[in-house]
Amino acid sequence: MSERTQTDSQQLLRRLRDTMAEEQKGQARLDKITHLIADSMSAEVCSIYLFRDNETLELCATEGLKAEAVHQTRLRIGEGLVGRVARSKKVINTENAPSSKGFRFMPETGEEIFSSFAGVPIQRLGETLGVLVTQSKQLRKFSSEEIYALEVVAMVLAEMTELGAFVGDETGLTALHQQSVLFRGTSGQEGAAKGSVWLHEPRVVVTNLVSDDPKEEKIRLQNAVDLLRQGVDEIVDKIADGDKEQTEILKAFRMFANSRGWLRRMEADIDQGLSAEAAVEKEQSAARARMSQVADSYMRERLHDLDDLSNRLLRILTGQGTDTGAEIPKDPILIARNIGPAELLDYGRKLKAVVLEEGSVGSHAAIVARALSIPLVINAANITTEALNGDPILVDGTQGIVHLRPDDNVANAFSEKIAMEAENQARYTALREEPAKTTDGKIIDLRMNAGLMADLPSLTSSGANGVGLFRTELQFLIRNQMPKRSELKNLYSRVLEAAKGKEIVFRTLDIGSDKVLSYMPNINEANPALGWRAIRIALDRPSIMRMQIEALIRASNGRNLSIMFPLISQDSEFYKAKELVDRVLSGEKRLGHNIPNELKVGAMLETPSLAYAPEDFFTAVDFLSVGGNDLKQFFFAADRENELVRRKYDTLSSSFLTYLKFVINRCKELKTPISFCGEDAGRPIEAVCLCAIGFSSLSMRPASIGPVKHLLRRVNLEELSNIMNSEIASGSSSVRTAVEKYIKSI
Ligand code: PEP
Ligand code: MG
Repeated sequence: MSERTQTDSQQLLRRLRDTMAEEQKGQARLDKITHLIADSMSAEVCSIYLFRDNETLELCATEGLKAEAVHQTRLRIGEGLVGRVARSKKVINTENAPSSKGFRFMPETGEEIFSSFAGVPIQRLGETLGVLVTQSKQLRKFSSEEIYALEVVAMVLAEMTELGAFVGDETGLTALHQQSVLFRGTSGQEGAAKGSVWLHEPRVVVTNLVSDDPKEEKIRLQNAVDLLRQGVDEIVDKIADGDKEQTEILKAFRMFANSRGWLRRMEADIDQGLSAEAAVEKEQSAARARMSQVADSYMRERLHDLDDLSNRLLRILTGQGTDTGAEIPKDPILIARNIGPAELLDYGRKLKAVVLEEGSVGSHAAIVARALSIPLVINAANITTEALNGDPILVDGTQGIVHLRPDDNVANAFSEKIAMEAENQARYTALREEPAKTTDGKIIDLRMNAGLMADLPSLTSSGANGVGLFRTELQFLIRNQMPKRSELKNLYSRVLEAAKGKEIVFRTLDIGSDKVLSYMPNINEANPALGWRAIRIALDRPSIMRMQIEALIRASNGRNLSIMFPLISQDSEFYKAKELVDRVLSGEKRLGHNIPNELKVGAMLETPSLAYAPEDFFTAVDFLSVGGNDLKQFFFAADRENELVRRKYDTLSSSFLTYLKFVINRCKELKTPISFCGEDAGRPIEAVCLCAIGFSSLSMRPASIGPVKHLLRRVNLEELSNIMNSEIASGSSSVRTAVEKYIKSI
């Protein structure tokens, strides 16, 4: 192989482009490509290996190796040099392949006579599709120019060819973007949905990958970069007087947009024969590949910035905006890398489901999806590159599984699942007006959790007795500036209006930890869940809570009002917060406003310490509500947002239940009404166990009321309680197995 010049590369790319434009399709085309590359690179061998499935690579075309090996030779990811390139997404360049670490001899290919080996990953937007290999007999290492040229060719190959078409002899030739793909993500909100893909930000389609005039392409790139920088400057200036934190982030973004290194790399790609768009995509793809391997969150953020800037640049170069003019399909299922809560609310209830590449269970988008009862799957890696607008898609929010372009078998099985859910739903609807009465005659008060006006219709449809937890922070989270008192007052009064006399328990602002307001200074805390959050912020900066209480009192306008404070860890916090309420109340009276007919003030028990507060506290509060999500994370010292630990600890463990029983007993003794409003209240098995240990009021997501009521109406709480007690007494660490056995038996 000789030293390559830039014109060699340009010529090769043009020949490749011409081959693509020819009539020839399928295998013949791929064979021609390997021939062209080998010829142009003066290498004896050029082979293309493509992924058959997530684990296996298949030799799909070769010039120089034995033709019989094509579609026969297969390697697992990580196996042999080819498998190692695929796994590491990095180049392997060695002069003596047979003596290299990881080499695997494949006799059917006849490759033993070739000594030098260079393999580069074939990638499309960070996703590895296969490996491009050149080999030669001569004992030599390929130069960096040669490797670079191979990478450029691999990129063009990934973009130009429907590579999926060449894999799997017996499975037929299905093209990329036509195969069915399964994504395993994380459940963000339960439920199953069937519909068509609607991309939140459709991917920019680059059609001209190869250029004839590098000079002209560099001018186009430079002009586009200038426009991009101008755009970023405008954003920075617009918020220059605003939030300092946000300005800092955007300044870092601008610095990146001005990076010489980035521009230089793209110009070098153009010199190899790529168009300006293809050069941007090549660097974007490299950044995405790096992103998937970087653990450091700061570095990942920077790579994200580059990804974002690349998208903007591509839109400038191609003139493609985010609005492609495409019509939103019937039963749309939204696909996005990530989405803000306000944007998601804009789509409203017309979405059947949401699938995100990123996101977290506690993210704002997840909160909104839950409020709207839309099935949500998060962490579905690569779905935005794979999905096209209008593709059929099935979402299983309960399992966190997504089937894109499903085959008939999957689609049929899924339809059965949806039908079963609909059947269950009908059963729950029939129970709507029935009480949640157990077989031993205990009636449980089932309420729903809410936070948005959009939740209120569920009050009727779910049959909830009221709202046991109204998360007022949602209104603050979905805005980009602090809401005004008058806005809040209007909203709260609409909420009270819609409740038609049913009780709504408004929880005062619970921010901090995972709930960060973009317009409040973001303080850097090592342990935000244990940090400055919830009532702690409210007491240190009382003006927001004061404004909120004023809005609530004015909204109540003489009606009953219930307020509760989040994360009370010790009695003094409750007393201080209550004092503030009393002061606001006197102020409102003085101003001549209508004060609530009855005002109840309660606290959330979310830290283990509160159970041991002095007796007076229990009589001073009008009610307590156990926030199981936070309580569990503090009880077990396991971050509720951390996938590595959050599932390790069971609500039905003997230790946690024993603690909860202690809380209930204290409340009984001191006559303090107590309820439970964490996520566990909405899980039928957990819910009946909570009732068996003494909770008689639960608040949960509206969609859970039906399933919880259905199970409650079948259990005998006394029997269940006896089973749980004897299990705990016998030294079991969890009552789950015994409870599940009992439920199966009823
Ligand atoms: C809880 O912690 O259980 C709770 C209901 O509050 P949130 O989930 O909003 O923190
Ligand atoms: Mg909480």
